[in-house]
Amino acid sequence: MSETATIGTGADVGCRIDVSGMDCGDCAKTIEASLGALPGVRSATVNFVRGTAEVAYAPERIGRPAIEERIKALGYGVAPPPMPAIWTFDVAGMDCGDCAKTIEAGLRRLPEVASASVNFASGRLSVTPADGTIARDAVLAAVAQAGYAATVATPHGAAPPSPLPWWQARRVLETGVAAMLWLAGFAVERAGAPRVASAAPFLLAMLGAGHPIARAGWYALRARRADMNLLMTVAAVGAVGIGRWDEGSSVLILFAIGLTLQNLTVDRTRQAIKALVALAPAEALVVRDGREVVVPVAEVGIGETVLVRAGDRVPVDGVVARGVSAIDQSSITGESVPVEVAPESAVFAGRINGDGVIEVRATEAAGDTTLARIIHLVEEAQASRAPAQAFVDRFAAVYTPIVVGGALLLATAVPLLVGDYRLWIFKALVLLVVACPCALVISTPVALVAAIGSASRRGVLFKGGAAIEALAGVRAVAFDNTGTLTAGRPSVSHVIPFGALTEAEVLSRAAAVEARSTHPLARGIARAAGERGLAAAPVTDELNLPGQGVQAVLDEATVLVGSRRLFPVRSKLIEETLAGLEREGRTAVLVGTPEGIDGIIALADPLRPSSRDAVAALHALGLRTVMLTGDNRAVAERIGREVGVAEIAAELLPEEKMRAITDVQRGSPTAMIGDGVNDAPALATAAVGIAMGAGGTDVAIEAADVVLMGDDLAQLPVAVRLARRTMATIRGNIGAAIAVKGVFLILTFAGVTNLWLAVLADMGMSLLVTLNSLRLIRLRAEPRRASAVAPIAGSRPLLGSAGD
Ligand code: ADP
Ligand code: MG
Repeated sequence: MSETATIGTGADVGCRIDVSGMDCGDCAKTIEASLGALPGVRSATVNFVRGTAEVAYAPERIGRPAIEERIKALGYGVAPPPMPAIWTFDVAGMDCGDCAKTIEAGLRRLPEVASASVNFASGRLSVTPADGTIARDAVLAAVAQAGYAATVATPHGAAPPSPLPWWQARRVLETGVAAMLWLAGFAVERAGAPRVASAAPFLLAMLGAGHPIARAGWYALRARRADMNLLMTVAAVGAVGIGRWDEGSSVLILFAIGLTLQNLTVDRTRQAIKALVALAPAEALVVRDGREVVVPVAEVGIGETVLVRAGDRVPVDGVVARGVSAIDQSSITGESVPVEVAPESAVFAGRINGDGVIEVRATEAAGDTTLARIIHLVEEAQASRAPAQAFVDRFAAVYTPIVVGGALLLATAVPLLVGDYRLWIFKALVLLVVACPCALVISTPVALVAAIGSASRRGVLFKGGAAIEALAGVRAVAFDNTGTLTAGRPSVSHVIPFGALTEAEVLSRAAAVEARSTHPLARGIARAAGERGLAAAPVTDELNLPGQGVQAVLDEATVLVGSRRLFPVRSKLIEETLAGLEREGRTAVLVGTPEGIDGIIALADPLRPSSRDAVAALHALGLRTVMLTGDNRAVAERIGREVGVAEIAAELLPEEKMRAITDVQRGSPTAMIGDGVNDAPALATAAVGIAMGAGGTDVAIEAADVVLMGDDLAQLPVAVRLARRTMATIRGNIGAAIAVKGVFLILTFAGVTNLWLAVLADMGMSLLVTLNSLRLIRLRAEPRRASAVAPIAGSRPLLGSAGD
C-alpha cells in the first residue's frame, strides 16, 4: 500500500519516515523544504495527514540517519519504522511457479534484501528490505537479470492498467504462428519430402515458440537452478542433436501452448483480487471553505467533510454529518442489505451510497480505512505460504535433481555398458521432461489465491494460505459471548438504586465512569444516560479492569462499575436481585464505591440474528462448539441455550479464556471467534483466531488469522466449508500430479513414451490442476449488484453511478 509510493521516481533509494509532532500543513512544507535542501536528497514529500516523510536519496551521498537527524533538528519526532516495510512489485511474463523461484533466488543474493517472495499466482513480488530502505533500481535490475520485467505495484486508489486483450499479447501471437509452422513441418514430413525440407519449418517453429523459454532457461542456469524452462530447452536441443527435429519442436510448441493457456487461467485468479482494489475510489468531493473541491482520497484530512452523492462510493471511513440515505454494505461484507444511515451513523470506505446525498465527516485517513486494511491484509496474505506449499516445495527440491541425475546417468553410463547411444539419450531426454515439477509447483498457490479471493468477496478475510489450511483442520469452535454471539449493543432495561441515590444518579455516575470505556456494556450505559438527558460529570484516574469493569475518581471519591468481583461484600437483597435479573438473561452491572453498592444496572444484549443458524451449521459440519465468556454463569447459560452451543465456560477473566482455549485444544484443534480486547490472547492461542471485522477492536483484528468483515456469523460455516474444499482440492492436485509423474517414470523405462507425450502429460496436468483450483472462485458466488439499493420513488436521480 502506501509503502509503494515511497519509491521515489528516478532515485536510487527511497525511505519512509514517520514524523510526529506536526500540527499543521505548513510544518509539512517546512520539513519538505529543509529535507529537499540536504545534499544527496532528490525529493522529499511530507504528508501532514499521515504524518510521514517520504524521501528519495542517493545512498552514496546521504543515509537515513542523517535525514532523521535533520527532522529532529527542526523540532519534530521520528518514530522507528514500526515493522520492516514490505515493498511490492508486479512481475510480468512469469509463466510458471518455477520462474518465481528463479527470481527469488536472484533477489536473495542482494545485500539490501532481507527476504523476497514471489507469488506466481498473483504476479506479486514482495521484498523486505534489510534496513528499512530499498534500492528500487537494484530490485528491478535483479528481476530483469532473471529474464522478467517488474514494475512498482500500482498503489491503491489508482486504477490498475488495463491489459491488452489476451489474443493480442505478443507471446500468444508468436506461439500461434509457431504452432502453424510446426503443423506444416509434419505435413511436409508426411508428404515424403527430404528431411531438410521438414527441418526448416520445425526449426522456425522452435525459434518462434522457444526463444522466451530458452532465455528463461539460460537465466535459471546462471542462477544454478534446474527450472522447467532449462529442462525443456535441453530436452528440445538434445532431440535435435540426435536428429529428431519433430520431437524437439513438439517439446517447445506444446510447452509454450500449455504455458499460454495456463497463464490465461491464472489471470482469472489475479483479477479476483484486483477487483477488490478497484473498490477504493481515487477521488473525493470535499467541502473546503464552503466550496466543493475534488481531491485525491489520500489528501482528505481527518475531520474534513466529504460530500457523497447518490450512487457514489464512500471514499473514506467516517460519520454521517448531514443527510439520510441507505448504504449498500455488499462491497465489503458480502451481504447486499441496504442499511439506513442518518446523522451520527458510521459509514465505511468502498461502500455504495443509495439515493440520498450525505455529508460524511472523515474519521480515518485514506490509508487507515477498513477497506485499505483489508486490501493490505489480502496482499500480505498472498505472500505467506501454507504448510501444504512448503511440502510441495520440499518434494520438488528433491525430486527434480534426482530425476535429472538419473537422466544424466542414462545418457552417459548406460550406453557405455550396453551401447545404442541414440536410444538411451532419447530416454534421458524424456526423463528430463518428466523431471519438471510444473503441475506440482502450481498445485497449491493457485488454489490458495483463488480461495482467498473467493472468500474476500464474501466478506471473509483469510490472512494467508496457512489460515485456510488451519481452518480446514479445525475440530472445535469457541465463541466469545458479548459482541460475537450477541450483537454487542446491550440496552439498559432496569436501573435499581440501593441506599441514598436515585435511579438517575446511579445511571449518571455509571455513565461518567464509563465515559471513555470502549466495552459494549459501557457504550450501552452511556447511550441510556444520553437518552435520558443526563450529563456525565468529569472524572479522573480512570482505570480499566479487564473482565471486571472500570473505576474512576468522581467528586474525590472512587467509584467502581462492573461485575460482582469488584464488590466482595453483598447483602442478601442484592444477591436476590442479581439472581433474578440474571435468570432472565440480563447482565447486571453493579455501581458503587469500595464502601458499598449504590445500585444495579441491568442490560440485555440481543442475539445476532445469524448466531443460532451458524451454530447449527457448525454442528452439521461435525464441529464441537464452546462458549467462553466473562459474563455471569446464569446469563451465559441462558444465551448458550438460546443459540444452541454445546458447552459453556463462564465468569472467565481474559487470561482464563486463554487457558480455556488451551484446554479445548488438547482434544481438537480449535478456532476461537471473538471481538474484544480481552479476546486477543485467546485468538492468538487458538489454532485459528477469527475476529469480527466491523464491530471488533483493532487488537482483535490484528491478533486474528481470519476476519469476518460483515460481523456475520453465517459466514463462519461458509468459511469452514471453503477451507475444507480448498484443502481437498490441493490434496487432489498434488496426488494427481505425483501420480502422473510416477506413471511416466515407469513408462519411460518401459520404452513406450516419447517426448511429446511427456510434455503433453506435464502441461495437461498443469492445466487440469489450475482449472481444478479455479473452481474455488465460483464457490457459491451469487451475483451481487450495486443497484441492490432500490430507488425510492420521487427521490433525486443518481448523480454519478461510479460505473459499477
Ligand atoms: P465477555 O467475555 O462477555 O466479552 P468481558 O470479559 O469483557 O466479557 O467482561 C466480563 C464481565 O465483566 C462483564 O460481564 C461485566 O460484568 C464486567 N465488565 C467488564 N468490563 C466492564 C465495563 N466496562 N463496565 C461494566 N462491566 C464490565
Ligand atoms: Mg467480548
